Amino acid sequence: MNNFIYHNPTELVFGKGQIARLAKLIPADKRIMITFGGGSVKRNGVYEQVIRALEGREVVEFWGIEANPSVETLRRAIALGKERRVDFLLAVGGGSVIDGTKLIAAGLLYEGDAWEIVLKGKAGKTVPLATVLTMSATGSEMNNGAVISRYETKEKYAFYGDYPVFSILDPETLYSLPVRQIACGLSDTFVHVLEQYMTTPGQSRLMDRWAEGILHTVIEIAPRALAEPRDYAVMSEYMLAATLALNDMIRMGVTQDWATHMIGHELTALHGLTHGATLAIVINGTLRVLREQKRGKLLQYGERIWGVTEGTEEERIDRTIEATERFFRSLGLSTRLSEEGIGAETIAEIERRFDALGAKYGEAGNVDGATARRILEACL
Ligand code: NAP
Ligand code: FE
Repeated sequence: MNNFIYHNPTELVFGKGQIARLAKLIPADKRIMITFGGGSVKRNGVYEQVIRALEGREVVEFWGIEANPSVETLRRAIALGKERRVDFLLAVGGGSVIDGTKLIAAGLLYEGDAWEIVLKGKAGKTVPLATVLTMSATGSEMNNGAVISRYETKEKYAFYGDYPVFSILDPETLYSLPVRQIACGLSDTFVHVLEQYMTTPGQSRLMDRWAEGILHTVIEIAPRALAEPRDYAVMSEYMLAATLALNDMIRMGVTQDWATHMIGHELTALHGLTHGATLAIVINGTLRVLREQKRGKLLQYGERIWGVTEGTEEERIDRTIEATERFFRSLGLSTRLSEEGIGAETIAEIERRFDALGAKYGEAGNVDGATARRILEACL
């Protein structure tokens, strides 16, 4: 195992009715800005629960953080927060609202333009933020990452801000999610695990078993979460699985990959494709093109996750990659670029962008423009 420091300060407040605890969780002297997306929380009653819980408190509301949050919108939130001297942020929504609020938290204490923070990759001082999660996928409720888009230039990059001080996870808030969002959330969760697991084998039995536990759980609950999104027990497992998949827990002392995410971000930036939907496509290409490098872990994953034990190593790897692609299809997601009308022109543009950035992504730092092209061509 490599050396590591594990410090995840987010307090998880899990279960039915927990939104009512907000007033106790946020210090009484704070001037709060609550941030929202486009309005799903008004339709499913979450907004009402939040406002009721914070009755009598000084709050400013900011609405309109989009899916794939834009710096253009977040600049307006930062200006409003500065004007109202906000010193606590409460994000109510999915990964997009939370990620966007991480940039607001940094932008409130930053003199220059917020996009500079994204380009630097790391925030300086931040205002404390907390979340009420309504869409499980990103783990943003218990990590310090955020992904921000700049619509003007069709760019999308990740930066590191701060961890939420607390996050409320009430599985009932997920009941109103459209099936496609749940599919994309399960896809994002699954690929978060693979980004931290599909690496050099033998680094940590413990991390492998935790990662495999999350993969098995996601595979088991997926059909029920899609068919019965009002089943409390199933949605509880989905919600917690998504959080544990990306809260630093399964990456202690081991290497990570993230090439699939970096390529997926480009597909969203260029085509607006939902994050989880991009991953369901790109992961197939990553596994195919990097199969030599990932051989040992692909064999382990095939055996432990998909029960693939017969045949030569090559046959087992083929069957494992096929089983993975079938899983994403079972979520109702496309697994091929052509199904989304994406082709050679986009592939060339992503290669050009990676070359311009000097990209060296992936566990081995070998996913540059040319490798990204091969990965994308493998999932045409
Ligand atoms: P999202 O973009 O936050 O939400 C997707 C859609 O779901 C929105 O239109 C939203 O509508 C709706 N929605 C949310 N909660 C709902 C509910 N309970 N009922 C009905 N509709 C609901 O989805 P996400 O997958 O959580 O976040 C995606 C973003 O996170 C991407 O930008 C991705 O790149 C990023 N990401 C971040 C990390 C990280 O570590 N920080 C990791 C992976 C991905 P409203 O706007 O109307 O609420
Ligand atoms: Fe993701």
